[in-house]
Amino acid sequence: MIYLDNSATTKIAPEVLDAMMPYLKEEYGNPSSKYYSLAEKAKKAVMEAREKIATLLGCDHDEIVFTSGATESNNMIIKGVSEYYGDHKRTIITTTVEHSSVLETCRYLESKGCPIVYLDVDQYGRVSPDQVERAIQETNPVLVSIIWGNNEIGSLNPIAQISKICKEYNVMFHSDATQVVGKVSFDMKEFPGLRFLSLSAHKMYGPKGIGAAVIRKESENIYTKITPLLHGGGQENDYRSGTLAVHNIVGFGKAAELIHNRASSDQQKLAELEQYLVDILSSNFGDKIVFNNDHTNKIPGILSVQFKGVNNELLLKKLSPYVALSTGSACSSSKPSHVLSAIGKSLDEIRQTVRFSLSPHIEKKDLDFFKNLK
Ligand code: PLP
Repeated sequence: MIYLDNSATTKIAPEVLDAMMPYLKEEYGNPSSKYYSLAEKAKKAVMEAREKIATLLGCDHDEIVFTSGATESNNMIIKGVSEYYGDHKRTIITTTVEHSSVLETCRYLESKGCPIVYLDVDQYGRVSPDQVERAIQETNPVLVSIIWGNNEIGSLNPIAQISKICKEYNVMFHSDATQVVGKVSFDMKEFPGLRFLSLSAHKMYGPKGIGAAVIRKESENIYTKITPLLHGGGQENDYRSGTLAVHNIVGFGKAAELIHNRASSDQQKLAELEQYLVDILSSNFGDKIVFNNDHTNKIPGILSVQFKGVNNELLLKKLSPYVALSTGSACSSSKPSHVLSAIGKSLDEIRQTVRFSLSPHIEKKDLDFFKNLK
């Protein structure tokens, strides 16, 4: 079977698994314990992983807070900022195409009285810097939270410009970078307004159940404190209590090191594979398909395609012995996609849409399967 659902999750890299195994066997120390070598080794392994992730993102190692994944990071940052600075009273600006872990968090806060502005997007799912600036001027928000790259259609938002605007207005800016880490190279130091980031290891060939919230240090009147979700023993600078999952953290660190080293070749390969697939689908299906994404300024390897008149669920079931695809986000596949709806697609068009998400570990010949599909 050809696995083309890498936006849902990725296959763990063998090097990652090898790096994790000792910490599931003999190296079982708790990194918060002291005085004996088992604990010291665990602490050292966590620090090394932190440094590898920091190198990948361009932040400092002590700005990384380990979480269970991007859902938790998004909840923690948005609820945490809203409570710390605004007692849930100050506005949060976001978009209509966020992942459900951002949208549902905002809806929860809204139910507690927090004003939320949901910015509309263009036909490819992007907001414009002007829209963000206008909304900031009108609402004096405590936080702007905008997805970096969309998990369903792959479009990239103008993060550099939004970061600049947020810095100018002294507004904290959070971006959910879960789908872009490794597929788009960036250095957080070049985005001084970007104060918070969310990411997840299982989207980048690491283990499930581990992710990070980047909480940048305070600087130049920009504050970045949050009220934690989990209180307890004070791990992770008091931001996230609980014994660290050392094996998962080590795996996350190894995954970060691997994608950092391979970033440019992986990105090039993803772009080539995507173009190859676009060509195959276009020549095989012609005007019977519609690409929901444009082909520029996007995450390489994510394609959203409407097969006109074909029910997507029936199609995916029929293809399931040969190829793993999805109708959209794995997290909300039972509901029609809010992302496709936000870009103006009708219910019928949504029900005919399939998401392809590629990995650099496949070959062009794997995609030849679609040449013969009727
Ligand atoms: N944000 C985006 C953009 C995602 O694509 C996902 C997962 O699909 C998440 C957040 C949630 O990540 P996790 O599974 O680590 O909670």
